[in-house]
Amino acid sequence: MAEHSNGGRTAIVIGGGLAGMLAVTALLGHVEAITVVERDRYPEGRAFRKGVPQARHLHILLSGGQRALEELLPGTAAALGEAGARSLYLPRDLLTRTPTGWQRRFDERRHRTLSVTRPVLDAVVRERALRAAAGSSTRVEVLEATEVTGLTGDADRVTGVRVRARDGGRGARRDLPAALVVDASGRGSRAPHWYAELGRSAPQEEIVDAGLAYATRMYRPKDPDTAPAVGVNVPGWPECPRGAAYVPVEDGAWLLTLSGVRGHHPPTDAVEFTAFSATIGDPYVHELLGYAEPLSPVYGFHDTCNRRRHFERPGALPEGFLVLGDAGCTFNPVYGQGMSVAALGALAVRGALDAAGGLRPGSAAAAQRAVARAAEPAWLAAVGADRPYAGSGQRTARPVERLSTWYIDRLHARAAVDAVVGAAFRDVFCLTAPPARLLAPRIVLRTLLRPRRPGLPAPPPTVEPL
Ligand SMILES: Cc1cc2nc3c(=O)[nH]c(=O)nc-3n(C[C@H](O)[C@H](O)[C@H](O)COP(=O)(O)OP(=O)(O)OC[C@H]3O[C@@H](n4cnc5c(N)ncnc54)[C@H](O)[C@@H]3O)c2cc1C
Repeated sequence: MAEHSNGGRTAIVIGGGLAGMLAVTALLGHVEAITVVERDRYPEGRAFRKGVPQARHLHILLSGGQRALEELLPGTAAALGEAGARSLYLPRDLLTRTPTGWQRRFDERRHRTLSVTRPVLDAVVRERALRAAAGSSTRVEVLEATEVTGLTGDADRVTGVRVRARDGGRGARRDLPAALVVDASGRGSRAPHWYAELGRSAPQEEIVDAGLAYATRMYRPKDPDTAPAVGVNVPGWPECPRGAAYVPVEDGAWLLTLSGVRGHHPPTDAVEFTAFSATIGDPYVHELLGYAEPLSPVYGFHDTCNRRRHFERPGALPEGFLVLGDAGCTFNPVYGQGMSVAALGALAVRGALDAAGGLRPGSAAAAQRAVARAAEPAWLAAVGADRPYAGSGQRTARPVERLSTWYIDRLHARAAVDAVVGAAFRDVFCLTAPPARLLAPRIVLRTLLRPRRPGLPAPPPTVEPL
């Protein structure tokens, strides 16, 4: 392991959110000590906190992310279940409306997604990550209510961070040295700005922004006997770019997220929110609201673009620096990928450090390339689907991307009615198989040669055996 003149065999993780805790897990055994610097003070219990504003909104953990999480922190899926997370097998437990009709509910059980509020998910992961740390050779300390305000070092090497205690007082500002700094500070990461302060140019950035906005409210069914047994998903489509997802979470509560692209943003006024739910592509969700009572105000969220910063490209990463989670790559949330990609990225970091025999010169860059590879399938899926909605200038897709958007569109329609194509579609979109799975001859032939068939006219009440 590399010894740094000041930082020794230590790492600093910026942000004690999901990616931050998974970064800790990935680094255990590879460094002597890790300091997590978190801007917030963690709340008592499993409560919302300011540093993760998207936590008010519906969050689904896909099967691909769950598998990565299990490898990093075995037993987490069961712990989430004990904390109240609801298991939804796709497509059985999520009624999904496509542009041509409702998807058939095959009893497939390849993909169990978890539906739970973010405060619960983050708290369970944090508890388990810190417990794993306590049983390891690495000392882990969390500095709460402390903000990273910059990096120390120069254009070639990051040697630590500048921090500021948020409650002020003596020693409120100081520098913390480290051999490795991991930026896991989320979608608001200031890494490009910090790069400029070190005299580096910002990493190349790609943005595809569908201009989507979210609005979310929590509900409880008035009568548990009339509560829907499964979740409902009505994504927007070009002719009706407004969508809704209504899913159960812990403690008998349900989250309704309404979404819409530019010109169709859902309102945050309670009355208008309910009215908007009647304007999406199918009346079913609006009808269900008649059987539920609201438990919360409506929360909005606008910053939903797909954005990746290419820290993995040659020369884009100073020695001693690594970027994980939303700080490196964010996704349009309707595809439910961000947390899974953070987990897959953390697993990739662990694999790269294992392969390099620990933290050595160049191993952070190798880890960053592995993180980028782990995010690529999700990026292609999200960007392929969003390109038609993107602003001018972001709309021009490479021919191969145009072809893939056209093909995915067809495949998506076929997947609603065809168990074989549907399984392949879910394998890829749940991040358990590479996109090449969609190009297997059997899938291509069924997608292109079988006649287009509409989906079902109404939400299917029963599950179909395979
Ligand atoms: C509306 C919405 C809905 C979403 N739905 C889904 C979904 O269904 N499924 C899914 O997988 N993903 C979803 N996502 C994505 C998911 O929220 C993110 O991918 C995930 O939170 C990334 O984790 P992170 O740790 O990188 O960032 P965050 O969870 O945002 O955590 C960042 C942490 O860094 C701290 N921090 C920030 N700056 C500093 C600083 N300077 N110093 C110290 N600490 C700092 C913050 O306080 C916070 O604790 C959604 C996103 C949005 C916006």
